[in-house]
Amino acid sequence: MDLGIAGRKALVCAGSKGLGKGCAMALAREGAEVTIVARGVDALNATADEIRKATGATVHTVVADITKPEGREAALAACPAPDILVNNAGGPPAGDFRDWNRDTWIAAIDANMLTPIELIKATVDGMMARRFGRIVNITSSAVKAPIDILGLSNGARSGLTGFVAGIARKTVTHNVTINNILPGLFETDTMLSRIEAMAKTNGVAFDAARDARMKTIPAGRFGKPDEFGALCAYVCSAHASFITGQNFLIDGGAYPGTY
Ligand code: NAP
Repeated sequence: MDLGIAGRKALVCAGSKGLGKGCAMALAREGAEVTIVARGVDALNATADEIRKATGATVHTVVADITKPEGREAALAACPAPDILVNNAGGPPAGDFRDWNRDTWIAAIDANMLTPIELIKATVDGMMARRFGRIVNITSSAVKAPIDILGLSNGARSGLTGFVAGIARKTVTHNVTINNILPGLFETDTMLSRIEAMAKTNGVAFDAARDARMKTIPAGRFGKPDEFGALCAYVCSAHASFITGQNFLIDGGAYPGTY
């Protein structure tokens, strides 16, 4: 299926590894010109090369912290008029809410709520004027099924979700959609390092902790970033103009509810 986005310009935040990289690769496979942003230059360059080799697409890199105003400025300078925006950044730390103060909360809200909102604000009017835009926010399954120790993530991402629900109904008449994709457990550096930390805390071997986690997922395995990227590419496709304000859970069946 041709997704109809060849030649479209895509800005993929936090795109050097994991889910962001999966999205960048999938969009590049569809012929989009991709700009990827991350703080670490080595992984960023290596990923850009890998995407170029795999797809033949044009890939630009921006070394920047997307959660900082100057980082967003640099990203938008490299890709001033994106047709596709994938909002992503590292998630907030786990912990007990009694240990978090105002600064902890502001950092989480800054990274996982206000950063995507700022980037939407900077790009959505141009998309509407050009009559094509696809915005995807990478959030978390924790928006639908909160995880107690991830209170910062539950809160900040739910704020973004509420904001998006309001504006996504306004932009769609201009062929600009805004949707969220909610990952369950995906095999990425962040997720594996969380399992490693958990294994250490509980005094069990990494493999045993990883296998136990996998068994909680009906699919019997973790998700692959490429699978996440494929969903993202479809939501960003020309065919998805009737889909806006939605929350797509991709979790191997882990969410137990009917709705
Ligand atoms: P990952 O594999 O560790 O990759 C994170 C990517 O984000 C890297 O490219 C990293 O590069 C970049 N990054 C992080 N902070 C950044 C910043 N401030 N500015 C620019 N780039 C930044 O992580 P992931 O698993 O794909 O997670 C992506 C998002 O999904 C996170 O918010 C995570 O909490 C959420 N999530 C993941 C899962 C899962 O199972 N994997 C589940 C639910 C939610 P640099 O470090 O070099 O900047």
